[in-house]
Amino acid sequence: MKKLIDGIHRFQSGIFEGKKELFERLAKRQEPDALFITCSDSRVSPTLLTQTVPGDLFILRNAGNLIPPYGPLHGAEAAAIEYAIEVLAVKDVIVCGHTYCGAMKAVLDPASLDRLPAMKGWLTYAEATRRVMDTHYEDLSNEDRLEVCIEENVLVQIENLKTHPSVLAAMSRGTLRLHAWVYEIESGNVMAFDDQTGQYLPVAEAGRGVAERPDRLSPNREI
Ligand SMILES: [Zn+2]
Repeated sequence: MKKLIDGIHRFQSGIFEGKKELFERLAKRQEPDALFITCSDSRVSPTLLTQTVPGDLFILRNAGNLIPPYGPLHGAEAAAIEYAIEVLAVKDVIVCGHTYCGAMKAVLDPASLDRLPAMKGWLTYAEATRRVMDTHYEDLSNEDRLEVCIEENVLVQIENLKTHPSVLAAMSRGTLRLHAWVYEIESGNVMAFDDQTGQYLPVAEAGRGVAERPDRLSPNREI
């Protein structure tokens, strides 16, 4: 805890003064560019990764960067998505998975969740990911299976995102783009799904977004 309190002191005495204008402007309103949906994992830092400042990203985090499909019961994810699109009018939504994701390890090894009933329940939102893995990637080594599972899960969650009316409406107006990313903790690389090639490419080389339903089982898909 001391590390956190010392950090707040350094922020107030050093950083805040230098960016006072920014914080005064942000006190009045926020106009984020993007909704950034990622895992709760402590090793993922969206603002560090994208070199953005407070006010740039509206961030939604949970275990496994999962997006429950739209339904009659509205949870925290649906509320955040609706607010980001309808009120803040973000232009982009990024779903960002990451390597060595514990939630995805658990998806591949459900027995590990026997003593974690809440997590087990939450990860039912990755059931489609588990089925894709069981059906199409049975022969991979454990390491490759985790890597592919992380990538496939981001695409599954992009599909779930499209069940939200605010998302679909903004996409049909041409005012919203969706992006499937995977952050590689060990290398600092960010890979983005490119819907033209059906593969994850370095973010600078990938297309401008996943506007259409991606064909995640494309024969060109690199695993
Ligand atoms: Zn994770």
